[in-house]
Amino acid sequence: MPQFSDVALPVPLDMVFTYAIPEGMEPVVGGRVLVPFRQQRMSGIVVELHDRPPQENASHIKIKKVLEALDLAPALDEHLLKLGKWIADYYLAPVGEVFRTMLPLSAEFKRAVTYRITEEGRMALHLAGMSGSPARSKRTPDQQLIEFRVLDYLAERESVREGSLRAATRVGKALLGGMVRKKWVVREDVSAARHSARLVRVAVLLRAEERLEASPPPDGPETRPHLNLAPAGVVPKKLNDNQRALIDTLAAAGGRVPVDALRNLEVPHSTLGTLVRRGLVRLVDEPQEFTASKLKPRPSPFDFEFSTAQKEALRKIGAAVAARKFSGLLLHGITGSGKTAVYLACMRQVLDEGRSSILLVPEIGLTPAVAADLHQVFGDEVAILHSGLSNAERAEQWHRIRRGEARVVAGTRSAVFAPVRDLALIIVDEEQDSSYKQEETPRYHARDVAVMRAKMADAVVVLGSATPSLESYYNARKNKYRLIELPDRVEKRPLPEVEIVDMRLEFQETGQEQVISRKLAAEIRERLEKKEQVMVLLNRRGYSPVVLCRACGKTLQCENCAVSMTHHKREHKMECHYCGYVARIPEKCAHCGSEYVYFVGTGSEKLEELLHGMFPQARIGRLDRDTVRGREDFEHALNALNEGRLDMLVGTQMIAKGHDIHGVTLVGVIGADMALGLPDFRAAERTFQLLTQVAGRAGRGNSPGKVILQTYFQDHYAVQFAAQHDFAGFYEKELQFRAWMHYPPYSAIANVLIRSEKLEEALTWSGELGRWLEKTRHEGIRVLGPAAAPITRLKRDYRYHFILKSPSREKMNALLRAMLAEAAARKIPRTQVIVDVDAVWLM
Ligand SMILES: [Zn+2]
Ligand SMILES: [Zn+2]
Repeated sequence: MPQFSDVALPVPLDMVFTYAIPEGMEPVVGGRVLVPFRQQRMSGIVVELHDRPPQENASHIKIKKVLEALDLAPALDEHLLKLGKWIADYYLAPVGEVFRTMLPLSAEFKRAVTYRITEEGRMALHLAGMSGSPARSKRTPDQQLIEFRVLDYLAERESVREGSLRAATRVGKALLGGMVRKKWVVREDVSAARHSARLVRVAVLLRAEERLEASPPPDGPETRPHLNLAPAGVVPKKLNDNQRALIDTLAAAGGRVPVDALRNLEVPHSTLGTLVRRGLVRLVDEPQEFTASKLKPRPSPFDFEFSTAQKEALRKIGAAVAARKFSGLLLHGITGSGKTAVYLACMRQVLDEGRSSILLVPEIGLTPAVAADLHQVFGDEVAILHSGLSNAERAEQWHRIRRGEARVVAGTRSAVFAPVRDLALIIVDEEQDSSYKQEETPRYHARDVAVMRAKMADAVVVLGSATPSLESYYNARKNKYRLIELPDRVEKRPLPEVEIVDMRLEFQETGQEQVISRKLAAEIRERLEKKEQVMVLLNRRGYSPVVLCRACGKTLQCENCAVSMTHHKREHKMECHYCGYVARIPEKCAHCGSEYVYFVGTGSEKLEELLHGMFPQARIGRLDRDTVRGREDFEHALNALNEGRLDMLVGTQMIAKGHDIHGVTLVGVIGADMALGLPDFRAAERTFQLLTQVAGRAGRGNSPGKVILQTYFQDHYAVQFAAQHDFAGFYEKELQFRAWMHYPPYSAIANVLIRSEKLEEALTWSGELGRWLEKTRHEGIRVLGPAAAPITRLKRDYRYHFILKSPSREKMNALLRAMLAEAAARKIPRTQVIVDVDAVWLM
């Protein structure tokens, strides 16, 4: 066994840590270990086992020991380890934090408080005389006696949990607190290796292909993996009777039996150990409830009625999967063209071949209805990972996937790390969706990670969208991806007609700032009279986004952010939409005391109220983050619409996303172009995508439906091309802009944010790094900044940023790495310098 283990810990440091491996312990690469780290115990991932003594030895720093090996088998297999290292490198994220994101097993650890005796404590015990000496009890008051009882108990042990300590010594928390203040003991908040679900050790009979290294390959052609469990033909010769009996038992039970159950067999216990050493059996620790083998029959195949284009798409993806090498495909299908059916059919094929697939969906895409579809097609073989799962449920799903019980995985962003076996296909639905980018460390983009994972696994990745991102469409044009198009709506339903209403003109003609134009109001009335349904989008929640003082002109800002607070009328409060801070509704201006405070602008709550006033008979529902708390709420609102219990649905971009809505013949769009005024190079792309998506909601049966698009930017190309359903036109125009401005896809981009609660620190640090960047040679890299970020203060932090652009990603990453080293040398905390590679938001 090697002497040392390099461990990646979930701390914001760009390094791994070396620990000595105690005698008899056998950690594995990719497995978790428990190690001491700065007064704490922490679980990390073993990245390397070796015999190279760490350099610290020379400077008399004692190498600490691994406390416990938590996994007998790797938690992250070779492929996922490699993927994690790639993410750490590409996104400049600490590798330990990447691994923590990839492994949803935190539920298996509980935080615990422990106590341990200090040198001072031992000294106090020593001075008080020999442990247990009767002399001591005579001279010390009661409280000290109890303290010595605690010290006695701790002196014999390394570290004791608070619960055990108090049970053993019958002391209160206050007394322990006093001992901490005297520095006799230290209190530690540790993550202890305690599994919340009781773990059972299970013996697993390895399949032929899993034990190639340990035993000769079986004769004959390769059979399907799950058939290999049969004892005949797969068991190498030279087994004695006991060994054979054990193997037969395992095979008969589906290849998996708890070790405890094997003790009932009439074979010596050492037999199992021999089989493990020979590589025929592996021991794994699993949550108890999943130890039973689940081999259920598959549900009957699902029938899809496919158009020619769908069949062609299915054929192309199927051929790519069959080739068993990497390929990337972009499935560009307009709204309503039946992409989902193609996904499910592809995944079904992959499953029938005994291989695995992963379907990624945006945050909002995984409704209970979608989950029900998946269950109908894949039965028990699907694992669904959504944000509503508890940590324990997430861990359970992880184990199911890992054991190969679920070969189909559907989920949001982090499902890209699902530990499936024999990965054949990853599908990224709505690949342009910004929820695929994680906005905390590690700041990975799940779509791009999916592409890399598929590359590493010789698998196929399909990116699907009605409005592909500029990056993906560009890659398809450059033949990096194959483009597959679904150009028609199913059953050749026509696209809706889009009419633009120029709101500047509306203002001139009515002399008033209008929320709902005369045209939109007339169209809504007409639909309601015909008993048809209407949808109105306003991508801003709350009642009024701004509170303004007419006397001094100041607005009510959040205490923590340089952002206006939004008025929420029904909940009677002011709320910051960036940090969630809530305040009372002001009666007077906080700056000048004037009573002339006005609520300005319209959010979805006010829009709903306005529409109620205009159409008192109509039944109106609202869909935004204030009315939707969970996946079920969302579904309820859509069901109400689909079942005709609503005449009108009002909402934010939630209503625009790809959901099945049947009866809407009119879609009104209010202020969907607000984003065009933001200092963000993706503003036009986002606006085009949102407009296209919401327009796709209109139409019922053979009736194409109509879209009324109210805008103040009527000449903007994003508005014009969306109105004409012209993706290619938008794409060409937008690419020109990106090329001129050196933005993606022509340049790699990174946003470097320097933040601190203290303004001086944020200024000083960004200034120092700015001067360093100026002095450093960086050919072919454009550096903008330092400048105040568009949102200058957020969640109490003052924010400055740099934007780096370069056609060479390698050069840009090298410069970023050097900059992080410089920041470390200048003692700027790593957590205050945020590097966001391929940033999606520049605010
Ligand atoms: Zn004022
Ligand atoms: Zn705030």
